[in-house]
Amino acid sequence: MLPSQCNSNLLKDTLKHKGLRNKLIEEVISKGIKDPLVIDAMRKVPRHLFMDSGFLEHAYQDKAFPIAAGQTISQPYTVAFQTELLQLKPRDKVLEIGTGSGYQTAILLELKAQVYTIERQLELFKKTRLFFDKMGYRPKKFIFGDGYKGMPDEAPFDGIIVTAGAPEVPKALLQQLAIGGRLVIPVGVEDQEMMRITRISETEFKREQLGTFRFVPLLEDKN
Ligand code: SAH
Repeated sequence: MLPSQCNSNLLKDTLKHKGLRNKLIEEVISKGIKDPLVIDAMRKVPRHLFMDSGFLEHAYQDKAFPIAAGQTISQPYTVAFQTELLQLKPRDKVLEIGTGSGYQTAILLELKAQVYTIERQLELFKKTRLFFDKMGYRPKKFIFGDGYKGMPDEAPFDGIIVTAGAPEVPKALLQQLAIGGRLVIPVGVEDQEMMRITRISETEFKREQLGTFRFVPLLEDKN
């Protein structure tokens, strides 16, 4: 069953939610998001269910919001922007670093990508794993671990998306890109420059800088 058709009391997605979501999507479009597939995916995913109940007021504002373990669910515009940069086709293999609430993961799944995702906070990992099960979201692999290392056993990836601010580009992630694959990663400490790095050949990479954002930090080692 698709989440949008889910009618259990706890996981309700009503007309009211859909109305609020449509308004949010209009806002995201007005800020420059164009890809119809990304917009369609954003329309389908019930963002309020990825946040603790009682935060409905916040779920459909274009803002990041605190979730468990001192982390945040990314701002919808940022999710759309990063997803658009990935340029995914159905069946593409995509690696996500920083599963968090699972909202970005769900958008990638709606795009029919094969999703591999890593979260380093145990509390969030357990919570989100349970939530995915309830909602019927099925990433190919969801692991608790350190995203700096990527998932070498599953490489190469057509896309890699990092949803936390990295002080520098992890070499392992570059190595795990397919030729033609895209790494979308916010790089910096205080705030971050969004970078898209495309692997042109075994040894060549094209780098694009695409604006300033602010993320929670990508941390090494588990707590
Ligand atoms: N896409 C998520 C963003 C969550 S915030 C969402 O919209 O909900 C970033 C996430 O990256 C946090 O959950 C944080 O715990 C995680 N993270 C930080 N460093 C990491 C690392 N080295 N490996 C994997 N995940 C990491």
